[in-house]
Amino acid sequence: MTTQRSSTIRQAAVLVGGLGTRLGPLTANTPKPLLPCGDRPFLAWVLRELCRFGVEEALLLTGHLGEKVEEALPAIVATLPKPMRVICAREPVQAGTGGALYHARALLAERFLLCNGDSWLDTNLAHMLAAAASDPAEIAGRMLLRRLPDASRYGVAELEGDRIAGFLERPTPGSPGTINAGVYLLGRAVLDAITPVCSLERDVLPGLAAAGRLRGTVAEGYFIDIGIPADFERAQTEIPAKLHRRALFLDRDGVINHDHGYVGSRDRFEFIQGAKDAVRRAVDAGWHVFIVTNQSGIARGLYSEAEFAALMEWVADEMRAAGATIDDLRYAPTHPEAKLAAYRREHLWRKPGPGMLLDLIDHWQLDPTRCLMVGDQPTDLAAAEAAGVAAYLFPGGDLDAFVSPRLTIT
Ligand SMILES: [Mg+2]
Repeated sequence: MTTQRSSTIRQAAVLVGGLGTRLGPLTANTPKPLLPCGDRPFLAWVLRELCRFGVEEALLLTGHLGEKVEEALPAIVATLPKPMRVICAREPVQAGTGGALYHARALLAERFLLCNGDSWLDTNLAHMLAAAASDPAEIAGRMLLRRLPDASRYGVAELEGDRIAGFLERPTPGSPGTINAGVYLLGRAVLDAITPVCSLERDVLPGLAAAGRLRGTVAEGYFIDIGIPADFERAQTEIPAKLHRRALFLDRDGVINHDHGYVGSRDRFEFIQGAKDAVRRAVDAGWHVFIVTNQSGIARGLYSEAEFAALMEWVADEMRAAGATIDDLRYAPTHPEAKLAAYRREHLWRKPGPGMLLDLIDHWQLDPTRCLMVGDQPTDLAAAEAAGVAAYLFPGGDLDAFVSPRLTIT
């Protein structure tokens, strides 16, 4: 039976308890995920990426040097562009990747992501979120798989469609294959197959695959594992360069949805043709996508901020169901002639003011010359110009057809 679920997963468990022995003295007193990468711990980059796709809580599965992770938490959270609840669950013994989940089971959500704190595949995770939303109930989880032209250094997953039929030993040199990218979307059902000390990869996944309960999403993208000195060195420049992304700012009404005037509810929210495709295309190409929208409907008392937030949660989930994501959102609820006194004022955030763009540029550490704005009003262009961002006026029609030839910034 296929059950359509939400495409939004709010919790990610992150494995941060490894010993890191291959890095020698570097990890004598520092857990690998805390090693600096550019201007912040590697783990901070992982959490930053997760929050783009709707994760609001990170559960750090700590072990070896767990107290160091706890000490570092406030500084890590301070680097994040969006609020995220970050908590630790410490394994009582060296429990392995499966055991780490076992010991944190009381804190795990019904469905959660699981990833490593010391590796990252730079890809559009929304494809996996979208696929998992329609997985049948008996499926225990999905794993992200990376296709390699030569997979001979790794064990490979054997796929039948998107079902993982099993895991094979290293193929012969030069043979292509799909390998485990270290990112999973799991349901709590997986906990039934987990013992207090076990390896997820060795002891749990093969059984789930044999029972037909494991699926895979094949992805491509830059991959780094900081577990060996040469790759850790490479990460110093490559990760900041990759993850300081270009950004596409989109107005909402008249760009993402038809402007029916003060749209504050789902029944009046009609997606523009190609809107989800345009966002997916930008995310696939490695761009952030942000919404910046004037919402004087709030100032006019037509809908509340809570109603607006609920509507935009739905929009974000609809986007993820289409393999897209909205990294972040700013809205301006004020109007100088507002009906509601609380919202009656001029505000830099209200376009043509540049405030919403500037705030996103600040939080996400964006380079305005690597950003693009698409709006349907002259005020959108004025706001972008004041923020130092190039902008285009969308005349209507198919948004993807309009945006796609304009994603030319490198
Ligand atoms: Mg508009």
